[in-house]
Amino acid sequence: MGRSVPLVVVGAGPGGYAAAFLAAGRGMSTLLIDQGAEPGGVCLQRGCMPSKALLQVARLLRESREAASMGVSFAPPIIDRERIKAWKEEVVGRLMRGLAEQCQRRGVAYLQGRAEFVDANSLLVQDSDGHEERIIFAKCIIAAGSRPMPLPGVAADLPGVWDSTQALQLSRIPETLLVVGGGNIGLELGSVYAALGSAVTVVEMSAGLLPGMDRDLLRPLLQRFAGEFQGVLTNSKVTAVTSDGERLQVTVQNGEEVRQLQTERMLVAIGRLANGDQLGLQRIGVAVERGIIAVAADKRTNVPHILAIGDVIGGPMLAHKASHDAHVAVGSLFGEPPPTHVPVIPLVTYTDPELACAGLTETAARQQGIPVRAVRFPWAASGRAQTLQRSEGVSKWLIDPHTERLLGVGITGLHAGEMIAQGVQAIEQGLTVAQFRRLVHPHPTLSETLLEAAEVAMGESVHYFAPKRER
Ligand SMILES: Cc1cc2nc3c(=O)[nH]c(=O)nc-3n(C[C@H](O)[C@H](O)[C@H](O)COP(=O)(O)OP(=O)(O)OC[C@H]3O[C@@H](n4cnc5c(N)ncnc54)[C@H](O)[C@@H]3O)c2cc1C
Repeated sequence: MGRSVPLVVVGAGPGGYAAAFLAAGRGMSTLLIDQGAEPGGVCLQRGCMPSKALLQVARLLRESREAASMGVSFAPPIIDRERIKAWKEEVVGRLMRGLAEQCQRRGVAYLQGRAEFVDANSLLVQDSDGHEERIIFAKCIIAAGSRPMPLPGVAADLPGVWDSTQALQLSRIPETLLVVGGGNIGLELGSVYAALGSAVTVVEMSAGLLPGMDRDLLRPLLQRFAGEFQGVLTNSKVTAVTSDGERLQVTVQNGEEVRQLQTERMLVAIGRLANGDQLGLQRIGVAVERGIIAVAADKRTNVPHILAIGDVIGGPMLAHKASHDAHVAVGSLFGEPPPTHVPVIPLVTYTDPELACAGLTETAARQQGIPVRAVRFPWAASGRAQTLQRSEGVSKWLIDPHTERLLGVGITGLHAGEMIAQGVQAIEQGLTVAQFRRLVHPHPTLSETLLEAAEVAMGESVHYFAPKRER
């Protein structure tokens, strides 16, 4: 026999802890299980939070340097790596303790251990001391997340090769860092190390960084990277890596051209693998492919009392998507119908400048043959951006040419991630560009750039004269 619970949640990341809190809030007795000593998952412990703390340090370094043109000069900064690391850990620690306290207050029991399905109504959980406990459950939500994808043909434990978790530990600031993968994680962590003094080279297999992203939104970022990164190699693939104990020799292939690069550290950030293959699900017949658990719109697997959410079900591997899934899954447990539409999920790259988008992109519209009108407002025409010395940004709407409804939004610039939610709301609520144009925005703010882009679309822009073809 073992402990019996009405609901067990496996994985205490932003999907799992949200699901546990929501279910407990509705009166369902809930057990939350995670391998970690405390809840938080990847997002809090080795993803969103530590990376954003380090990006804040990077931005501070850059802004203090750039203040010289405003007439304020600082002495060159002293980088105390140990203190930065400690500060980042304090931030993460505070958040983790806060979550653990939330578990207690909400009456959610927390169990540390690695869970595996024994049968369709029980799990075996082994804690870090090797003790085992059997958990018998009526319902289960799997929120087991994902792990870094290793580079094919390169041993993950080769000395000098980091994944994102190791890069976030800030165990050293290497003189040279080769980042493999020009997606969100690679660019964010590459920016951090570049700001701290590493010579960073990014290698990306596709034709451009942030594959699939609109080029006009990327341009300000690429200009920034040109000054910050030692090199960006696109259409390039790492084909071999060897180590002499001190440095790595990396073979990079671009078509016929083969280069040998030397680097002190190499960060592999080529994507993430869903953890659905680590739970013994084959024993109970839950459909899993390449670690991704298949679910219906209500987040139920093919075994209906077992649901799955977050990174482990694939789709955009983002914390806010995982939390949204949690609401749907808990709703399903209480008999609510699943949402009838696919939610608009914003994507933010927290480099400096930030890049944020939601809904349709111009690239996707072209690929799918969807007719759209794209309008842009360059931040050079924004008074607020000028006062912040951040005029490199751009705000953009994608508009249905027939109905005038807003279909997509993109922003590159300082605090783009903070502003994108207004675009999400406008798209979700089906606003037309004329309806958005009527919303009064405070002046002077960066948020006005979205209003101004709508004005460009209406041919009514006050601060930016757009030639007719751009309207
Ligand atoms: C460097 C980095 C930066 C990121 N930045 C952002 C960002 O800025 N914004 C954003 O939205 N997303 C970001 N992400 C992605 C985000 O972290 C994930 O999308 C999010 O954490 C997924 O949440 P989840 O609840 O599905 O699972 P996770 O957060 O992955 O949590 C899953 C938990 O399940 C546990 N677990 C797995 N298997 C078992 C088992 N068998 N038994 C017990 N426990 C188990 C794991 O230990 C883990 O704690 C980032 C990721 C990384 C790596």
